[in-house]
Amino acid sequence: MPLSSFFKMASPDIAIDLGTANTVVYVQGQGIVINEPSVVAIELVDGVRRVRAVGNAAKLMMGKTPDNIVAIRPLQNGVLADLEVAEEMIKHFVQKAQGDRSWFSSRPGIVICVPSGATLVERRAIRDAVANAGASHVSLIDESMAAAIGAGLPVAEPVGSMVVDIGGGTTEVGVISLCGLACSDSARVGGDRMDEAISAYVRRRHNLLIGDATAEKVKKEAGAAKAPHDGDGLVGLVRGRDLKRGGPFEVRLTQAEIAEALSEPLARIVHVVEEVLEHTQPEIAADVLSEGITMTGGGSLLREIAVALADETGLPVRVADDPLNCVALGAGRTLEDPEYRAVLNPA
Ligand code: ADP
Ligand code: MG
Repeated sequence: MPLSSFFKMASPDIAIDLGTANTVVYVQGQGIVINEPSVVAIELVDGVRRVRAVGNAAKLMMGKTPDNIVAIRPLQNGVLADLEVAEEMIKHFVQKAQGDRSWFSSRPGIVICVPSGATLVERRAIRDAVANAGASHVSLIDESMAAAIGAGLPVAEPVGSMVVDIGGGTTEVGVISLCGLACSDSARVGGDRMDEAISAYVRRRHNLLIGDATAEKVKKEAGAAKAPHDGDGLVGLVRGRDLKRGGPFEVRLTQAEIAEALSEPLARIVHVVEEVLEHTQPEIAADVLSEGITMTGGGSLLREIAVALADETGLPVRVADDPLNCVALGAGRTLEDPEYRAVLNPA
């Protein structure tokens, strides 16, 4: 046995929320240590793929890369679209989370979140990617369950709690009772679709071609799920290429226009929630009627989204505290508190 491994210390376990848009990493005893975009910039040198940048650094390159560099989002629509790159990304974040410790400590146990709709094959692929990234053992947790724990819902009690997590690529809806997922569904609609809907609207109405990052920026600055009661409401500026004149051009986009652009993706989100409510057992559905819906994920930061969902479903809706971190906080809680181990699935 090499001397180095003789002296290896037990390393704290790690929980990872591998989102389509952002990866959030929780280290046992420390809390959240990483929250970066799930993006990898790959450079092609003599036909060989090499990782050029991961996370924040890679996202800055998106849409602006020269021909030999591509910025890849290895998770699309909630599933691993590029296994090899996903593994590189996980490895990078695990090493970063461990810091200097990784040299002299043992391999950590890792809890990883999976969308409830992930197939057995997809679950295995995620498990293998995490194991290859350096985990001593891997456990899986359903994303809705992690979100519910992170949002402080009473998951262990015989009470139905509904969570709606709107991420970049997907919306996950789950109803939880007694540490189990009583009913769930997901749809391939989330923040990315909202950005696309804004781009399509700007192109149709203003003849302006804008990039994804520009659409996302104006969504955050001036976007809302509902038009204001009177007037235009918030206003954002978007720059892009004018399709008639050819050159760069700038357009004012109002909250009312963005709400109109977002109506299609929002209707799809409402539809998944209604589907899940329809398939929930009556006793549990009765709990949801009184306890209401809790929203998590970056998409829940869209202005007025809770009001819009409440209007459509007739249920009380609230947005959790710190919605971007709920899933990682919930998964992290399972590392700290043995009471929550029951929600983990052995991989
Ligand atoms: P994932 O879990 O898929 O990685 P996140 O929960 O991290 O996704 O959410 C990312 C999505 O949330 C992105 O589409 C982003 O544009 C969106 N988002 C973040 N902040 C806001 C905001 N203030 N308003 C609207 N959308 C937002
Ligand atoms: Mg997520």
